[in-house]
Amino acid sequence: MSGSTIKPWVVGNWKMNPMQADAKQLLQEFKQLLQEKEIAQEKCNIGVAPVAIALGTTQVELAKAVRPVFTVAQDVSRFAHTGAYTGEVSAELLKDSQIEYVLVGHSERREYFAETSAVLNAKAQNALNAGLTVIYCVGESLEQRESGQAEIIVLQQICDLASVVVAEQWQNIVIAYEPIWAIGTGKTASPEDAQAMHAKIREGLTQITSYGASMAILYGGSVKAENAVELAACPDINGALVGGASLNATSFYKIAEAFANTK
Ligand code: PEP
Repeated sequence: MSGSTIKPWVVGNWKMNPMQADAKQLLQEFKQLLQEKEIAQEKCNIGVAPVAIALGTTQVELAKAVRPVFTVAQDVSRFAHTGAYTGEVSAELLKDSQIEYVLVGHSERREYFAETSAVLNAKAQNALNAGLTVIYCVGESLEQRESGQAEIIVLQQICDLASVVVAEQWQNIVIAYEPIWAIGTGKTASPEDAQAMHAKIREGLTQITSYGASMAILYGGSVKAENAVELAACPDINGALVGGASLNATSFYKIAEAFANTK
């Protein structure tokens, strides 16, 4: 399988947004767009990551869509199973609520919640052991890119993850390359730069796991309807993790459509 034949994923990361009524409307509009012009399931996986308290209602709303749209958790506890960990939601509790996907390693978690590679490894390991699919985010800062360290930083983040993943679990991992300087800034990596990093990630993955050639590698960082087609045209960009633009149903739909039609 070459990078360009992998089924793409388009996942909306709502972050700490929106209020309930707006979330409901956003989902209604998105479902309506899918109803008017369906994006075939076999052409693109689509997911939405709402705030934790909205996982259940989002799931109920998305179950009424004309095609599967996954509900994705934005976070998972580093503690497993159940227990006295106030405020935490474990991988097993997510699974018990039929949530099958989770983001781990988002740069906002790394930065604002001081999530180290040890913490992220525990989260990824718990999620994988519980049978969840992990969307694992990696990416460099502007300073790291400008000092020529981007590749080494990103590959190190993948090696950190590799220390806890056992062979067939790689099938349940999607990588999201998100240069930190492109997140929420309106600055997108050029398709050439993004493709170059994705190719390096793929090369690194193929050295680590026999699943490397078939793993989806998503790009994230100011993806919009306007730049989705050119990103989707890159062979090793197998989808997008979308922040801001996923809060607008039409933009999010167009991004998913771009990946479904271009791949
Ligand atoms: C993100 O938070 O994962 C992200 C890519 O955000 P944005 O699309 O707003 O840059």
